[in-house]
Amino acid sequence: MQFILNTSVTDVTFTDDQFTVSLSNNQKLTADLVIGAYGKRANLDRQLQRSFFQKRSPYLAVKYHIRTDFPRNLIALHNFNDGYAGLSAIENGKYCFCYLTTRSNLKKHGTIAQMEKAVLQQNPFLKRVFHESDFLYEQPEVINEISFAPKSCLENHILMCGDAAGLITPLCGNGMAMAIHGAKIISEQVTHYLQGRYSRLQLEQAYSHHWQKQFTTRLQVGRFIQGLFGRPLLSEATVALLRPLPQAVQFLMKNTHGKAFN
Ligand SMILES: Cc1cc2nc3c(=O)[nH]c(=O)nc-3n(C[C@H](O)[C@H](O)[C@H](O)COP(=O)(O)OP(=O)(O)OC[C@H]3O[C@@H](n4cnc5c(N)ncnc54)[C@H](O)[C@@H]3O)c2cc1C
Repeated sequence: MQFILNTSVTDVTFTDDQFTVSLSNNQKLTADLVIGAYGKRANLDRQLQRSFFQKRSPYLAVKYHIRTDFPRNLIALHNFNDGYAGLSAIENGKYCFCYLTTRSNLKKHGTIAQMEKAVLQQNPFLKRVFHESDFLYEQPEVINEISFAPKSCLENHILMCGDAAGLITPLCGNGMAMAIHGAKIISEQVTHYLQGRYSRLQLEQAYSHHWQKQFTTRLQVGRFIQGLFGRPLLSEATVALLRPLPQAVQFLMKNTHGKAFN
């Protein structure tokens, strides 16, 4: 096993049943199989001409680590105009506070700080977070162009995994668990191929089938629920409607969170 660190993949081609992988240090590798686990957005997506990459995404995310007074066993989700924010406990007594909004919301207000003051702080819970917490980063981490558009788990024979195969909306959480679960599915299917039980075509068909069975509905439900957030009237109405229907809430939770796996 060899790890090549601090080096990125700049190109992947597939000819004569073999991959050639070009690296940023000008090295070229050949491989029988390539797994794409490079996250939500990379130049490789442009080279592969993936459709989600061609369209601009309206979303941007902002993340902080903070210290605050909040129960450690609770995950809070709060709405604001054109977005939503989440707060959850992480390591060393800290909390992750992040929100998703649109580029147009930021454009309207000029800077992140001004947008937070004018929009997010209209929500009294969020106002309290901003006023009564220690913000541990000098600057927030801002992630642009987050696309939740459907992707394919197979591109030019590359087996895509994790965010490179599909990004779950942060509202549902569990992106890391999905990436780990995807890796488990890939490793099982690749083992069949390496042991000669599958041809390349069978491997690709089996992987697509298992991936879709496990994740497609979850991603669709996540996109649908995200569409309700950020619109105050619609989300208030949805919450009011769901409050007396715990079974419907359970149903939504079940369809956005996978089952435990081993
Ligand atoms: C704002 C925000 C909040 C989130 N909050 C949560 C949360 O609370 N809980 C949760 O479970 N998930 C959360 N997620 C989702 C979670 O971060 C991802 O789903 C998860 O990290 C996906 O893992 P991955 O391995 O597919 O990709 P990544 O973790 O992105 O790893 C991809 C790796 O590939 C490397 N790479 C990229 N391009 C190349 C290249 N060309 N060559 C070589 N290497 C390359 C990158 O440097 C990176 O190290 C959040 C996401 C966002 C955007």
